[in-house]
Amino acid sequence: MNWILKQGEWRDLADKVAAGQRIDESEALRLFETKDLHVLGALATLANRRKNGNRASFIVNRYINYSNYCILSCQFCAFARKKRDADGFQYTVEEITAMAREALSVGITELHIVGGLHPSLPFSYYLDMLRALKQVDSRLQLKCFTAIEVLHLAWLGKRSTEQTLRELKEAGLDSLTGGGAEIFQPAVRQAIARGKESAEEYLAVHRAWHRMGGRSTCTMLYGHVETVADRVDHLRRLRELQDETRGFVGFVPLAYHPENNRIGVPHPPTGFDSLRTIAVSRVYLDNFDHITAYWVGLGLKLAQVALNFGADDLHGTIFDERIFHMAGATSPQQQTIEAMSKAIREAGLVPRQRDTFYQPIRDWPLEPEQAPDAVLV
Ligand code: SF4
Repeated sequence: MNWILKQGEWRDLADKVAAGQRIDESEALRLFETKDLHVLGALATLANRRKNGNRASFIVNRYINYSNYCILSCQFCAFARKKRDADGFQYTVEEITAMAREALSVGITELHIVGGLHPSLPFSYYLDMLRALKQVDSRLQLKCFTAIEVLHLAWLGKRSTEQTLRELKEAGLDSLTGGGAEIFQPAVRQAIARGKESAEEYLAVHRAWHRMGGRSTCTMLYGHVETVADRVDHLRRLRELQDETRGFVGFVPLAYHPENNRIGVPHPPTGFDSLRTIAVSRVYLDNFDHITAYWVGLGLKLAQVALNFGADDLHGTIFDERIFHMAGATSPQQQTIEAMSKAIREAGLVPRQRDTFYQPIRDWPLEPEQAPDAVLV
Protein backbone atom coordinates (compact mmCIF):
# COMPACT_ATOMS: atom_id res chain seq x y z
CA MET A 1 0.00 0.00 0.00
CA ASN A 2 1.17 3.52 -0.83
CA TRP A 3 2.82 5.25 2.17
CA ILE A 4 0.35 8.15 1.86
CA LEU A 5 -2.45 5.80 2.84
CA LYS A 6 -0.73 3.96 5.65
CA GLN A 7 -1.40 6.56 8.24
CA GLY A 8 -3.88 9.20 9.25
CA GLU A 9 -7.44 9.89 8.25
CA TRP A 10 -7.50 7.76 5.07
CA ARG A 11 -6.39 4.50 6.63
CA ASP A 12 -9.97 3.21 6.98
CA LEU A 13 -10.75 3.66 3.28
CA ALA A 14 -7.36 2.36 2.23
CA ASP A 15 -7.93 -0.83 4.23
CA LYS A 16 -11.34 -1.28 2.57
CA VAL A 17 -10.01 -0.75 -0.94
CA ALA A 18 -7.02 -3.02 -0.32
CA ALA A 19 -9.39 -5.74 0.89
CA GLY A 20 -11.72 -5.26 -2.10
CA GLN A 21 -14.54 -4.03 0.13
CA ARG A 22 -17.22 -1.64 -1.04
CA ILE A 23 -17.33 1.99 0.06
CA ASP A 24 -20.69 3.66 0.67
CA GLU A 25 -22.14 6.95 -0.57
CA SER A 26 -21.00 9.00 2.43
CA GLU A 27 -17.46 7.75 1.88
CA ALA A 28 -17.66 8.62 -1.81
CA LEU A 29 -18.76 12.13 -0.83
CA ARG A 30 -15.88 12.36 1.61
CA LEU A 31 -13.54 11.54 -1.25
CA PHE A 32 -15.18 14.12 -3.52
CA GLU A 33 -14.71 16.77 -0.86
CA THR A 34 -11.00 16.27 -0.19
CA LYS A 35 -8.51 18.58 -1.86
CA ASP A 36 -5.75 16.00 -1.47
CA LEU A 37 -5.17 14.70 -4.99
CA HIS A 38 -2.31 12.50 -3.77
CA VAL A 39 -4.71 10.56 -1.57
CA LEU A 40 -7.25 10.23 -4.39
CA GLY A 41 -4.58 9.03 -6.80
CA ALA A 42 -3.18 6.53 -4.33
CA LEU A 43 -6.60 5.09 -3.44
CA ALA A 44 -7.79 4.92 -7.04
CA THR A 45 -4.55 3.34 -8.21
CA LEU A 46 -4.82 0.75 -5.45
CA ALA A 47 -8.35 -0.10 -6.64
CA ASN A 48 -7.34 -0.10 -10.30
CA ARG A 49 -4.23 -2.25 -9.97
CA ARG A 50 -6.26 -4.91 -8.14
CA LYS A 51 -8.42 -5.23 -11.25
CA ASN A 52 -6.18 -4.40 -14.17
CA GLY A 53 -2.60 -4.89 -13.05
CA ASN A 54 -0.11 -2.84 -15.03
CA ARG A 55 -2.06 -2.68 -18.28
CA ALA A 56 -4.07 0.16 -19.79
CA SER A 57 -6.08 -0.16 -22.95
CA PHE A 58 -7.37 1.64 -26.02
CA ILE A 59 -9.45 0.62 -29.01
CA VAL A 60 -8.90 1.23 -32.70
CA ASN A 61 -12.28 2.55 -33.74
CA ARG A 62 -14.10 5.11 -35.83
CA TYR A 63 -17.04 7.30 -34.94
CA ILE A 64 -19.87 7.81 -37.38
CA ASN A 65 -22.78 10.15 -36.73
CA TYR A 66 -25.45 9.13 -39.22
CA SER A 67 -27.34 12.43 -38.75
CA ASN A 68 -27.47 15.44 -36.45
CA TYR A 69 -31.15 16.17 -37.04
CA CYS A 70 -33.01 15.77 -33.77
CA ILE A 71 -36.58 16.29 -32.61
CA LEU A 72 -35.35 17.21 -29.11
CA SER A 73 -33.50 20.33 -28.01
CA CYS A 74 -31.51 19.35 -24.91
CA GLN A 75 -30.17 22.56 -23.43
CA PHE A 76 -26.57 21.30 -23.15
CA CYS A 77 -26.39 19.92 -26.71
CA ALA A 78 -24.34 21.71 -29.38
CA PHE A 79 -24.69 18.87 -31.88
CA ALA A 80 -28.38 18.73 -32.80
CA ARG A 81 -29.87 20.61 -35.72
CA LYS A 82 -33.35 21.14 -37.15
CA LYS A 83 -34.23 20.53 -40.78
CA ARG A 84 -34.19 24.28 -41.42
CA ASP A 85 -30.52 24.59 -40.32
CA ALA A 86 -27.90 24.90 -43.04
CA ASP A 87 -25.38 22.68 -41.27
CA GLY A 88 -27.67 19.73 -40.65
CA PHE A 89 -26.65 16.44 -42.24
CA GLN A 90 -27.70 12.84 -42.71
CA TYR A 91 -25.92 10.00 -44.45
CA THR A 92 -27.31 7.26 -46.60
CA VAL A 93 -26.54 3.64 -45.80
CA GLU A 94 -24.24 3.58 -48.85
CA GLU A 95 -22.28 6.59 -47.57
CA ILE A 96 -21.93 4.97 -44.14
CA THR A 97 -20.67 1.68 -45.56
CA ALA A 98 -18.14 3.62 -47.65
CA MET A 99 -16.85 5.28 -44.46
CA ALA A 100 -16.64 1.86 -42.82
CA ARG A 101 -14.61 0.42 -45.72
CA GLU A 102 -12.19 3.30 -45.56
CA ALA A 103 -11.76 2.91 -41.79
CA LEU A 104 -11.31 -0.86 -42.04
CA SER A 105 -8.35 -0.27 -44.30
CA VAL A 106 -6.55 1.38 -41.36
CA GLY A 107 -7.33 -1.44 -38.96
CA ILE A 108 -10.40 -0.47 -36.94
CA THR A 109 -12.22 -3.20 -35.02
CA GLU A 110 -15.23 -1.13 -33.97
CA LEU A 111 -17.65 1.39 -35.39
CA HIS A 112 -19.25 3.67 -32.80
CA ILE A 113 -22.47 5.02 -34.30
CA VAL A 114 -24.90 7.50 -32.78
CA GLY A 115 -27.06 10.33 -34.04
CA GLY A 116 -29.90 12.66 -33.18
CA LEU A 117 -33.51 11.52 -32.93
CA HIS A 118 -34.22 11.88 -36.61
CA PRO A 119 -37.72 13.17 -37.43
CA SER A 120 -38.43 11.00 -40.47
CA LEU A 121 -35.93 8.19 -41.14
CA PRO A 122 -37.87 4.90 -40.91
CA PHE A 123 -37.01 2.05 -38.54
CA SER A 124 -35.88 0.02 -41.56
CA TYR A 125 -33.04 2.53 -42.17
CA TYR A 126 -31.36 1.51 -38.91
CA LEU A 127 -31.76 -2.22 -39.57
CA ASP A 128 -30.48 -1.80 -43.13
CA MET A 129 -27.47 0.16 -41.86
CA LEU A 130 -26.50 -2.57 -39.38
CA ARG A 131 -26.97 -5.36 -41.93
CA ALA A 132 -25.00 -3.51 -44.59
CA LEU A 133 -22.10 -2.87 -42.18
CA LYS A 134 -21.95 -6.52 -41.17
CA GLN A 135 -21.80 -7.39 -44.86
CA VAL A 136 -18.78 -5.14 -45.23
CA ASP A 137 -17.00 -7.23 -42.59
CA SER A 138 -18.77 -9.58 -40.21
CA ARG A 139 -15.96 -9.18 -37.64
CA LEU A 140 -16.49 -5.44 -37.35
CA GLN A 141 -18.00 -4.76 -33.92
CA LEU A 142 -20.97 -2.40 -34.07
CA LYS A 143 -21.40 -0.28 -30.96
CA CYS A 144 -24.41 1.83 -31.71
CA PHE A 145 -27.21 3.97 -30.28
CA THR A 146 -27.82 5.57 -26.95
CA ALA A 147 -30.78 4.60 -24.76
CA ILE A 148 -32.87 7.54 -25.99
CA GLU A 149 -32.24 6.50 -29.61
CA VAL A 150 -33.46 3.00 -28.78
CA LEU A 151 -36.64 4.47 -27.27
CA HIS A 152 -37.05 6.67 -30.36
CA LEU A 153 -36.68 3.64 -32.64
CA ALA A 154 -39.20 1.70 -30.53
CA TRP A 155 -41.63 4.56 -30.94
CA LEU A 156 -40.91 4.81 -34.68
CA GLY A 157 -41.30 1.11 -35.24
CA LYS A 158 -44.29 0.77 -32.89
CA ARG A 159 -42.51 -1.98 -30.98
CA SER A 160 -41.63 -2.65 -27.35
CA THR A 161 -38.13 -1.77 -26.20
CA GLU A 162 -37.29 -5.47 -25.95
CA GLN A 163 -38.54 -6.24 -29.46
CA THR A 164 -36.65 -3.23 -30.84
CA LEU A 165 -33.43 -4.38 -29.21
CA ARG A 166 -33.99 -7.94 -30.42
CA GLU A 167 -34.39 -6.80 -34.03
CA LEU A 168 -31.37 -4.51 -33.81
CA LYS A 169 -29.34 -7.38 -32.39
CA GLU A 170 -30.45 -9.73 -35.15
CA ALA A 171 -29.46 -7.10 -37.71
CA GLY A 172 -25.93 -6.88 -36.27
CA LEU A 173 -25.89 -4.66 -33.18
CA ASP A 174 -23.08 -5.86 -30.87
CA SER A 175 -23.17 -3.29 -28.08
CA LEU A 176 -25.16 -0.28 -26.94
CA THR A 177 -23.26 2.93 -26.29
CA GLY A 178 -23.44 4.56 -22.86
CA GLY A 179 -24.29 8.07 -24.01
CA GLY A 180 -27.26 10.02 -22.73
CA ALA A 181 -27.03 9.17 -19.03
CA GLU A 182 -26.09 12.81 -18.30
CA ILE A 183 -26.98 13.18 -14.59
CA PHE A 184 -29.85 11.10 -13.25
CA GLN A 185 -31.03 13.52 -10.56
CA PRO A 186 -34.41 14.76 -11.93
CA ALA A 187 -34.04 18.52 -11.32
CA VAL A 188 -30.58 18.58 -12.91
CA ARG A 189 -31.80 16.46 -15.79
CA GLN A 190 -34.66 18.87 -16.34
CA ALA A 191 -32.23 21.80 -16.33
CA ILE A 192 -29.84 20.37 -18.92
CA ALA A 193 -31.85 17.89 -20.99
CA ARG A 194 -35.54 18.66 -20.79
CA GLY A 195 -37.60 16.16 -22.77
CA LYS A 196 -34.97 13.45 -22.71
CA GLU A 197 -35.72 10.05 -21.21
CA SER A 198 -35.79 9.76 -17.42
CA ALA A 199 -33.11 8.00 -15.42
CA GLU A 200 -35.49 5.07 -15.01
CA GLU A 201 -35.99 4.83 -18.78
CA TYR A 202 -32.22 5.01 -19.45
CA LEU A 203 -31.58 2.24 -16.95
CA ALA A 204 -34.53 0.18 -18.23
CA VAL A 205 -33.12 0.15 -21.78
CA HIS A 206 -29.73 -1.04 -20.53
CA ARG A 207 -31.39 -3.58 -18.21
CA ALA A 208 -33.41 -5.01 -21.10
CA TRP A 209 -30.28 -5.21 -23.28
CA HIS A 210 -28.27 -6.88 -20.53
CA ARG A 211 -31.06 -9.41 -19.88
CA MET A 212 -30.85 -10.59 -23.48
CA GLY A 213 -27.12 -11.13 -23.07
CA GLY A 214 -26.01 -7.78 -24.45
CA ARG A 215 -23.25 -5.62 -23.02
CA SER A 216 -22.94 -1.87 -22.90
CA THR A 217 -21.03 1.00 -21.37
CA CYS A 218 -22.45 3.85 -19.31
CA THR A 219 -21.54 7.48 -18.78
CA MET A 220 -21.95 10.52 -16.52
CA LEU A 221 -21.79 14.08 -17.83
CA TYR A 222 -20.20 16.14 -15.04
CA GLY A 223 -19.15 19.72 -14.45
CA HIS A 224 -22.27 21.75 -15.30
CA VAL A 225 -25.03 22.52 -12.77
CA GLU A 226 -24.91 19.35 -10.68
CA THR A 227 -23.49 18.95 -7.16
CA VAL A 228 -21.03 16.29 -6.10
CA ALA A 229 -23.93 14.68 -4.19
CA ASP A 230 -25.74 14.38 -7.54
CA ARG A 231 -22.67 12.64 -8.98
CA VAL A 232 -22.63 10.16 -6.11
CA ASP A 233 -26.35 9.52 -6.58
CA HIS A 234 -25.69 8.88 -10.29
CA LEU A 235 -22.88 6.44 -9.53
CA ARG A 236 -25.07 4.69 -6.95
CA ARG A 237 -27.75 4.00 -9.54
CA LEU A 238 -25.24 2.63 -12.02
CA ARG A 239 -23.67 0.42 -9.35
CA GLU A 240 -27.09 -0.93 -8.39
CA LEU A 241 -27.93 -1.89 -11.96
CA GLN A 242 -24.51 -3.46 -12.35
CA ASP A 243 -25.13 -5.54 -9.20
CA GLU A 244 -28.33 -6.74 -10.86
CA THR A 245 -27.13 -7.48 -14.41
CA ARG A 246 -23.31 -7.36 -14.59
CA GLY A 247 -23.88 -6.06 -18.12
CA PHE A 248 -21.75 -2.90 -18.09
CA VAL A 249 -18.26 -3.49 -19.44
CA GLY A 250 -16.99 -0.04 -18.54
CA PHE A 251 -17.80 3.42 -17.20
CA VAL A 252 -16.95 6.60 -19.11
CA PRO A 253 -17.12 9.90 -17.17
CA LEU A 254 -17.64 12.76 -19.63
CA ALA A 255 -16.33 16.25 -18.88
CA TYR A 256 -18.91 18.88 -19.80
CA HIS A 257 -17.97 21.34 -22.55
CA PRO A 258 -19.70 24.72 -22.31
CA GLU A 259 -19.71 26.22 -25.80
CA ASN A 260 -22.52 26.62 -28.32
CA ASN A 261 -25.33 25.62 -26.00
CA ARG A 262 -27.96 27.13 -23.73
CA ILE A 263 -26.59 26.47 -20.26
CA GLY A 264 -24.81 29.27 -18.49
CA VAL A 265 -21.70 27.47 -17.27
CA PRO A 266 -18.75 29.74 -17.97
CA HIS A 267 -15.98 27.24 -17.25
CA PRO A 268 -15.61 23.58 -18.10
CA PRO A 269 -14.51 21.15 -15.39
CA THR A 270 -10.93 21.77 -14.28
CA GLY A 271 -8.17 19.19 -14.38
CA PHE A 272 -8.56 18.77 -10.63
CA ASP A 273 -12.28 18.10 -10.95
CA SER A 274 -11.79 15.56 -13.73
CA LEU A 275 -9.09 13.67 -11.86
CA ARG A 276 -11.09 13.50 -8.64
CA THR A 277 -14.21 12.38 -10.53
CA ILE A 278 -12.32 9.57 -12.24
CA ALA A 279 -10.65 8.59 -8.97
CA VAL A 280 -13.87 8.50 -6.93
CA SER A 281 -15.60 6.57 -9.73
CA ARG A 282 -12.83 3.96 -9.68
CA VAL A 283 -13.02 3.49 -5.93
CA TYR A 284 -16.83 3.56 -5.64
CA LEU A 285 -17.73 1.44 -8.71
CA ASP A 286 -16.19 -1.71 -7.32
CA ASN A 287 -18.31 -3.89 -9.61
CA PHE A 288 -17.02 -2.23 -12.81
CA ASP A 289 -13.87 -3.64 -14.37
CA HIS A 290 -12.93 -0.61 -16.43
CA ILE A 291 -12.95 3.19 -16.14
CA THR A 292 -12.20 5.21 -19.26
CA ALA A 293 -10.38 8.53 -19.38
CA TYR A 294 -12.12 9.97 -22.45
CA TRP A 295 -9.35 11.88 -24.19
CA VAL A 296 -11.78 13.80 -26.39
CA GLY A 297 -13.15 15.66 -23.39
CA LEU A 298 -9.99 15.72 -21.28
CA GLY A 299 -7.28 16.14 -23.89
CA LEU A 300 -4.75 13.33 -24.22
CA LYS A 301 -2.36 14.92 -21.72
CA LEU A 302 -4.86 14.93 -18.86
CA ALA A 303 -6.22 11.52 -19.89
CA GLN A 304 -2.67 10.21 -19.59
CA VAL A 305 -2.38 11.61 -16.05
CA ALA A 306 -5.73 10.00 -15.24
CA LEU A 307 -4.10 6.59 -15.77
CA ASN A 308 -2.64 7.14 -12.32
CA PHE A 309 -5.98 8.34 -10.93
CA GLY A 310 -8.02 5.19 -11.49
CA ALA A 311 -8.50 5.07 -15.26
CA ASP A 312 -7.28 1.99 -17.13
CA ASP A 313 -8.48 2.92 -20.61
CA LEU A 314 -8.04 5.85 -23.01
CA HIS A 315 -10.96 5.02 -25.32
CA GLY A 316 -10.22 5.01 -29.05
CA THR A 317 -8.64 6.42 -32.15
CA ILE A 318 -12.12 7.69 -33.15
CA PHE A 319 -11.04 9.43 -36.41
CA ASP A 320 -13.98 11.82 -36.64
CA GLU A 321 -15.44 13.14 -33.37
CA ARG A 322 -18.14 15.79 -33.75
CA ILE A 323 -20.32 15.94 -30.64
CA PHE A 324 -17.69 17.29 -28.24
CA HIS A 325 -16.01 19.40 -30.88
CA MET A 326 -19.25 21.20 -31.72
CA ALA A 327 -19.38 21.98 -27.97
CA GLY A 328 -15.92 23.52 -28.02
CA ALA A 329 -13.48 20.65 -27.40
CA THR A 330 -10.02 21.68 -28.54
CA SER A 331 -8.51 18.20 -28.65
CA PRO A 332 -7.75 16.78 -32.12
CA GLN A 333 -10.51 14.78 -33.81
CA GLN A 334 -8.51 11.58 -33.81
CA GLN A 335 -5.54 9.88 -32.15
CA THR A 336 -3.00 7.51 -33.59
CA ILE A 337 -2.19 4.14 -32.08
CA GLU A 338 1.34 5.41 -31.55
CA ALA A 339 0.20 8.47 -29.58
CA MET A 340 -2.03 6.44 -27.28
CA SER A 341 0.44 3.63 -26.69
CA LYS A 342 3.17 6.21 -26.02
CA ALA A 343 0.93 7.99 -23.49
CA ILE A 344 0.30 4.68 -21.71
CA ARG A 345 3.95 3.63 -21.74
CA GLU A 346 5.06 6.96 -20.32
CA ALA A 347 2.59 6.48 -17.46
CA GLY A 348 4.47 3.30 -16.57
CA LEU A 349 1.93 0.85 -17.98
CA VAL A 350 1.73 -1.67 -20.79
CA PRO A 351 -0.45 -0.50 -23.72
CA ARG A 352 -3.08 -3.04 -24.70
CA GLN A 353 -5.30 -2.77 -27.75
CA ARG A 354 -8.77 -4.02 -26.82
CA ASP A 355 -12.03 -4.80 -28.54
CA THR A 356 -15.50 -3.40 -27.84
CA PHE A 357 -15.90 -5.63 -24.80
CA TYR A 358 -12.47 -4.74 -23.38
CA GLN A 359 -11.11 -8.11 -24.41
CA PRO A 360 -7.41 -7.99 -25.33
CA ILE A 361 -6.38 -7.98 -28.99
CA ARG A 362 -2.68 -7.29 -28.64
CA ASP A 363 -0.14 -5.70 -26.37
CA TRP A 364 1.96 -2.99 -27.92
CA PRO A 365 5.69 -3.25 -27.33
CA LEU A 366 7.29 -1.60 -24.34
CA GLU A 367 10.01 0.08 -26.36
CA PRO A 368 9.03 2.43 -29.22
CA GLU A 369 11.72 1.02 -31.47
CA GLN A 370 9.95 -2.34 -31.36
CA ALA A 371 6.92 -0.87 -33.13
CA PRO A 372 5.01 -1.54 -35.32
CA ASP A 373 5.03 -5.25 -34.52
CA ALA A 374 2.68 -5.72 -31.62
CA VAL A 375 2.59 -8.78 -29.39
CA LEU A 376 -0.50 -10.84 -30.08
CA VAL A 377 -2.25 -11.80 -26.88
S1 SF4 B 1 -28.37 15.35 -26.67
FE1 SF4 B 1 -29.12 13.86 -28.19
S2 SF4 B 1 -31.36 13.84 -27.86
FE2 SF4 B 1 -30.60 15.74 -26.90
S3 SF4 B 1 -30.77 17.31 -28.52
FE3 SF4 B 1 -28.69 16.47 -28.63
S4 SF4 B 1 -28.81 14.86 -30.18
FE4 SF4 B 1 -30.92 15.31 -29.53
